[in-house]
Amino acid sequence: MPELIPLESLTRDDSAPFELVPGEAGSGRSVSIDLPIGPPLVAESPLLTAEPRARLSKKGRLLKAFLLDRPVWVTWQVTYNCNYGCSFCTYWQNDFQPHEENSLHDFAVGAEKLSELGSLIVSLAGGEPMLRRDIHQIIEILAQDHFPYMTTSGSGITPKRARQIWEAGCWGVSVSIDYADPDKHDHHRGVKYAYRRAITAIEQLLSERTDPSYQRVQIISVLTDDNLEEMPKLCELARDLGVYWQVQPYSVMKTGNEKQRHLPGATELLLDLKERYPETVHANRVYLEKFEEAVNDGIDGCIAGRAMFNVDNRMVVSKCVEFNETEPCGSLRDHSMEEVLDRLHDANERNTCTACWYSCRGETEVLYTPRGFYHSMHSFLYQSRGQQGANGNGKGGE
Ligand code: SF4
Ligand code: SF4
Repeated sequence: MPELIPLESLTRDDSAPFELVPGEAGSGRSVSIDLPIGPPLVAESPLLTAEPRARLSKKGRLLKAFLLDRPVWVTWQVTYNCNYGCSFCTYWQNDFQPHEENSLHDFAVGAEKLSELGSLIVSLAGGEPMLRRDIHQIIEILAQDHFPYMTTSGSGITPKRARQIWEAGCWGVSVSIDYADPDKHDHHRGVKYAYRRAITAIEQLLSERTDPSYQRVQIISVLTDDNLEEMPKLCELARDLGVYWQVQPYSVMKTGNEKQRHLPGATELLLDLKERYPETVHANRVYLEKFEEAVNDGIDGCIAGRAMFNVDNRMVVSKCVEFNETEPCGSLRDHSMEEVLDRLHDANERNTCTACWYSCRGETEVLYTPRGFYHSMHSFLYQSRGQQGANGNGKGGE
């Protein structure tokens, strides 16, 4: 009988005493969100009219988009609600109603417009994507022609839902863990048992895969001012669980708190981990090489709007996740892909922002350097070795 995790792991711990900036400690933490949210499920999606495109053909279309200098990576925020309360994020203060966020029809319209650019990597995030009861249908719609990935806290994953996600055509799931110490992780996530929930989610995701030759599970960690020494332990945790490990630095754009930036020494430490655990560390080494520069001077030449862009929970397109309100570039609901692309190009040309070195920016940007391209595309195009998990628990293709 599997160990049961207390239900408190599904809701914020409103007594967690971390500070929020600017001066809003505790505000908004009483927002209550029922689990899961979103419109009722429809038994059979009427939105899928064709068979999914073959994997090889999708890879060819992705490569073509890259060679034509079109966007290759889209971050898509499926909901801005969240049941956690992380110290380095403010999304948990949102309280969108289901009708205010994208419907399945919106996803179908958006996926088709994206197809005009090629078959793209679509990174589904939020908020907490698992809050949407129809997340597997969203994935199925996007997987027709694209490569959907998802990032989650692990909350809301069950064996059944993990299976649905893989069957829908998900290419990878990243589970967020920022501290190898369970108490610290729970504290910073603002939720009791968050660590146990994340580990259980990883185990369930691994064991429910339908084709481990391409379905990836990884831990993703946010590097802040107080967890640099946790990185080796997190990397070893990923290795022990048999999953990949990815890391990205905190950005001041999330909360406005300058003090949470990561400390000196990150590049050296992360490159050492890449050297020691090449099978586990999934980050491109050229991306890791720039962590120091990112925190000291900021990195110029952001490719947001050119190689990547964001779609928010109401179909608003922007150059990246941080500019959907201040610099919208149209909507996948109301504008053609051509119009949206023109606005994104303008936004990219005007862009002087150096505020982040998120993995969506950094991992995409290094593709445009010969070394970065080699390190990333080699594994993406030719990877045939499947992840087996700690207990060899890939179930094999079906
Ligand atoms: S970082 Fe993620 S899990 Fe944490 S509050 Fe923000 S959206 Fe939720
Ligand atoms: S550096 Fe680029 S990706 Fe990062 S917040 Fe600024 S515009 Fe967005």
